[in-house]
Amino acid sequence: MLDVLERWLRLSAERIRDEAPALTVLDQAIGDGDHGINMDRGFSAIVASLDAGVADAESEQARAALVLRTAGRTLISTVGGAAGPLYGTAFVRGAGALAAADPSTTSAGRLVAALDAAIEGISGLGKATIGEKTMLDALVPALAAGRAAIDAGADAGEVTRAIADAAETGALATVPMLATKGRASYLGERSVGHQDPGATSSALLLRALADVVAAG
Ligand code: ADP
Ligand code: MG
Repeated sequence: MLDVLERWLRLSAERIRDEAPALTVLDQAIGDGDHGINMDRGFSAIVASLDAGVADAESEQARAALVLRTAGRTLISTVGGAAGPLYGTAFVRGAGALAAADPSTTSAGRLVAALDAAIEGISGLGKATIGEKTMLDALVPALAAGRAAIDAGADAGEVTRAIADAAETGALATVPMLATKGRASYLGERSVGHQDPGATSSALLLRALADVVAAG
């Protein structure tokens, strides 16, 4: 789990760097054009802290949770905007779920528990629900797909692929939505017809997770 998490954070940082201009274009349409820059700053700082060395903890599970919690704190302190506190809280809450998970649970089960806790953190802080054109419109269907895949007996690779597929579909489904939370809501009807930047970055992060798990 520790290895998967570190590789996920590093691959996410690479892809966010590659996609930062596209995320910025999306945020220019319905926000202030900083989402790609914000996310790149945060994930670069995460990579720098990984390079500086992982803090010690008693078990591999505890170390994995510590890596994720540290990444969350890094996002909160470096990203700014709405997305920094929201993603940062999501990571910190996901870390809490990982630390609390029964070690006998499958890795897919632990990841889904972490995603569930992450979503609770985002909705608790941002007070949004699905259909409001936010990152939750990628994350909530992703969680449902992950749960369904686990119930169907899928392995970790299949579960994370189902999660990523649903997140991408969810991000695309934000295009016709009217934004009622965050900066995009200031645009009212003019927010319709554009894909939400935060839903797009959420889908990117979950695709990176699936790709890391698939690579084994
Ligand atoms: P800002 O809007 O402060 O410039 P960013 O551009 O980094 O911050 O992030 C914007 C993204 O944050 C949006 O695309 C949306 O997905 C997400 N977001 C904004 N407000 C909320 C909220 N209340 N709940 C969930 N996500 C939100
Ligand atoms: Mg913005």
